[in-house]
Amino acid sequence: MALTNSVKGTLAVLAATLAGTAIAGCGAQHGTPSGSAAMVVPDVPRRPSVVPEQHSAPSSSSPRPVRATPTVPKARSASHGPSRKHHTAGRASLGRATTSDMIEHAAEGRGRSVALTFDDGPDPRWTPKVLRLLAQHHAKATFCEIGPNARANPGLVKRITAAGHRLCDHSVHHDEQQSHKSRDYNRHEIVDAQREIAAAAGPRAKLWYYRAPGGDFSPAIRDIAAARGLRPLGWTVDSEDWKRPGVNAILNNINAELRPGAVVLMHDAGGDRSQSVEALRILLDRLDAAGYSYTFPRR
Ligand SMILES: [Zn+2]
Repeated sequence: MALTNSVKGTLAVLAATLAGTAIAGCGAQHGTPSGSAAMVVPDVPRRPSVVPEQHSAPSSSSPRPVRATPTVPKARSASHGPSRKHHTAGRASLGRATTSDMIEHAAEGRGRSVALTFDDGPDPRWTPKVLRLLAQHHAKATFCEIGPNARANPGLVKRITAAGHRLCDHSVHHDEQQSHKSRDYNRHEIVDAQREIAAAAGPRAKLWYYRAPGGDFSPAIRDIAAARGLRPLGWTVDSEDWKRPGVNAILNNINAELRPGAVVLMHDAGGDRSQSVEALRILLDRLDAAGYSYTFPRR
């Protein structure tokens, strides 16, 4: 395959970094532009994010609407990472929560492992390509699905679970301003999507997490999710693939923040995801070569 010099250069950098013992930390952590010098970040919650990340808008069918232009550059915006209320030990008021309502942003695997997550699907065009690549690498991942997309593609949801991947609730309408809405609104966003995804997946499937669109968590949202058995889910590595910045840029974004235990955010829906798929193909090769294993976010 003919690769441009720039692609080769990016691959070399990625390979070199992955092969190193000191993987670049997720130091950018959505607070500095991607591609900035990586810094080592301890295995503790990062500083809270202030501005919700912007990513794709929801849809119940393809093609999905064009993503709204973020008012804040994503690289400088917040993440699904720890919210301002991250350390607030607010408990579910429903009295039946068995799941922590703290935003999880670490992989459960020990050692050199990484948790890949794919948001906004399932999508009949792109999700199968992602599944195929993951299967080729015996890699497991987590799919954060929008309820209507799951309802429209139940076969894909079943393929995801049959392959051993995990499901995550990603709301009904992908409202990135959820935290400003009423508790009742948020309950519907979370619970209705959970029902849609569960119905598509079948009776034995389990939903493990809730990832607020744009990482726009609030204590109430975390509370509702936890009460439904859904662990609030963040991320530590933002590929920014939704911007379609080019395969090189996506790989560079990942490379800048990747470390063992990372939770990587990518997308398998929300528009043309050809760059995401190609970046994933290269990423999986490099992760394999660097001795990474594939795991899930913690619960
Ligand atoms: Zn999303």
